[in-house]
Amino acid sequence: MQPFNLQPTMSTTKNTPPPREATQTRVWGRALSESGKPFQYLIIHCTATPAGRWISADDVKRWHTKPKPYGNGWKQVGYSDLILLDGTRHTFVKHNNDTFIDSFEVTNGVAGINLISRHLCYVGGLDSSHKMPLDSRTPQQISTMLDIIGEVLSYAPNVKIAGHNQFDNKSCPSFFVPSWLKRLGIPEHNIEWRDPFGYRKQFCST
Ligand SMILES: [Zn+2]
Repeated sequence: MQPFNLQPTMSTTKNTPPPREATQTRVWGRALSESGKPFQYLIIHCTATPAGRWISADDVKRWHTKPKPYGNGWKQVGYSDLILLDGTRHTFVKHNNDTFIDSFEVTNGVAGINLISRHLCYVGGLDSSHKMPLDSRTPQQISTMLDIIGEVLSYAPNVKIAGHNQFDNKSCPSFFVPSWLKRLGIPEHNIEWRDPFGYRKQFCST
């Protein structure tokens, strides 16, 4: 496993912040009109699709935003970024790379913490029978995930990283994120260890 590197590499999707009103007053680099809360969590998810099955960003967008019963009927996709099977990063919701979650950056991956979180999803998470949780991340997906984590920690160094299964009783993202982060040498203050549903036991033998 490569040592963790906090220097972000170039991502495949351009991450340009949205244009701001010329009249905005800025205090400490932050526009007064922004109403965001502090960015506290980067939550990792999976699409809960079988290992190796190609799922596109358009597929995920359709699942989330098409009206019921064809989709969830959400206004916005539930994740900030998606990592495709080949490691390509698709940014659904642009973010301005600061320590706040502004209103335009909110996505709904985990009810209750969305105003303070960003959500990162990889394609996969189930075995080929489509039944059992499986950490099916390809080497390319892991590499992109590390790039994104490094990028986030470079501008928001106090963010804690966690998996969806640490906030809801579901196996997503099919591995126990804190143990993985610790093995990589991610600083302890960036690892969220809460485990109210006991997924550490399910996914880690030690
Ligand atoms: Zn999830």
